[in-house]
Amino acid sequence: MADKPCCEPVAQNDCCNGATVLIYPCSGSSDVGEISDHAGRLLTREGFGKMHCLAGIGGRVPGITLSAQAAGKILAIDGCPQDCASKTLSVAGIEDFSRVRVTDLGMPKGKTPVTEEHTRVVAEKGIEALRASALRATA
Ligand code: SF4
Repeated sequence: MADKPCCEPVAQNDCCNGATVLIYPCSGSSDVGEISDHAGRLLTREGFGKMHCLAGIGGRVPGITLSAQAAGKILAIDGCPQDCASKTLSVAGIEDFSRVRVTDLGMPKGKTPVTEEHTRVVAEKGIEALRASALRATA
């Protein structure tokens, strides 16, 4: 079966001049990992980009990797300083992305309730990072 992108790109964000924005939360098992996941989904619902499959990048699934390589902007949301989302992208050769780390926002790992308020804080930081970033050179 031919590989193809798993998800159609969207251009409905209001922060990046119509560029395709892909969002990769670490979606880790901890509280801060879960918050990263919720923030990615919230940003997707609100039209700032599209949450994409970090596991597909880790597994080098061709269609998913191609989508990331072609994205106008990428946001990695890491839960903690292990930086799994950022490292997964980097190891796959995908650079030039914006990053947010949940534990840098006053939310300690293992001690942070997964709430809408915390999710919103991370999402807002992600919007800020996307707005401040330039289009990727490889897009
Ligand atoms: S960045 Fe931290 S929270 Fe996220 S998957 Fe890695 S270890 Fe878990």
